[in-house]
Amino acid sequence: LMQLYVPLNFLGFVYWQINQGMIDMEQMFSLMRVNYEVRDKPGAIELAPQGAPVEVRFEDVHFGYNPDRDILKGVSFTVAAGQKVAIVGPTGSGKSTISRLLFRFYDTVSGCVLVDGHDVRDYTQHSLRAAIGVVPQDTVLFNDTIFYNIAYGRPGASVEEIEQAARLAQIHDFIITLPQGYKTKVGERGLKLSGGEKQRVAIARTILKNPRVLILDEATSALDTATEQEIGSALRSVAYDRTTLVIAHRLSTVTDADEILVLREGVIVERGSHAALLEADGVYAGMWAAQQAEQEEAVQSKTFDEVA
Ligand code: ADP
Repeated sequence: LMQLYVPLNFLGFVYWQINQGMIDMEQMFSLMRVNYEVRDKPGAIELAPQGAPVEVRFEDVHFGYNPDRDILKGVSFTVAAGQKVAIVGPTGSGKSTISRLLFRFYDTVSGCVLVDGHDVRDYTQHSLRAAIGVVPQDTVLFNDTIFYNIAYGRPGASVEEIEQAARLAQIHDFIITLPQGYKTKVGERGLKLSGGEKQRVAIARTILKNPRVLILDEATSALDTATEQEIGSALRSVAYDRTTLVIAHRLSTVTDADEILVLREGVIVERGSHAALLEADGVYAGMWAAQQAEQEEAVQSKTFDEVA
């Protein structure tokens, strides 16, 4: 049996490596349908997966999933190398669509998406995707050990590198309290981790992958304040000095962004730093006031519950 097992296992490993870029993204874009029109062009160039941060630029991007409905209507912005840009706006405004175009799951209808000065259509899809890391809203863990789940970020990484990534993601101290430590099985059939713990495993995986561009897709579901703060600092360490695009639901997490884009029905209606947008007293300032009021209400009702 072993004679059969070894080659089969090896084949599985090869398949896993080939698919690595895809699997990461499938987790993030669970609703995505594979678009067969996206192909490598002849002589496509390679983007080095690791290295100095790169610039990301959208130039007058128009896009629709169907010809009869425009989703993005002339979107332009630049994330300078190593900077952080956040996209905020109501559900359905096109935030995730922007990240899908950056990953080249779809091609634009007109306008272009540039990474390090080259149109994403000039790169091989494999190298483009290897250079972009994603921390998705909802991390799906493999039914395997915590070690495996982190190591997946970069096959061949050393134990020290894995532990260092876990430390930066602030999950190492938790892991070593488990009786089996890094060998603890997680996932559906193993130890159930909380949303915050899963997210930190995903962050450790991405730190290990060390991509040149990072997409953070913030969880929509409200995490408790303590968890949010822990994740916040883990996220800051993965985003540090890395070109980062954040799809944000809570404005409080992106006040430090170099630029915030306010998207509405596929159009950037406002842009600027948090301070500048508050000063402008427009759409963003209104959203900020509404979220602050919501938070205050939540705190008050919690206090009320505690008293009652
Ligand atoms: P957001 O991330 O801001 O909530 P999305 O980018 O996910 O918005 O979606 C923008 C619009 O595109 C929505 O109206 C959504 O219904 C539509 N949409 C998203 N994905 C697809 C798809 N695969 N096919 C057709 N329409 C889609």
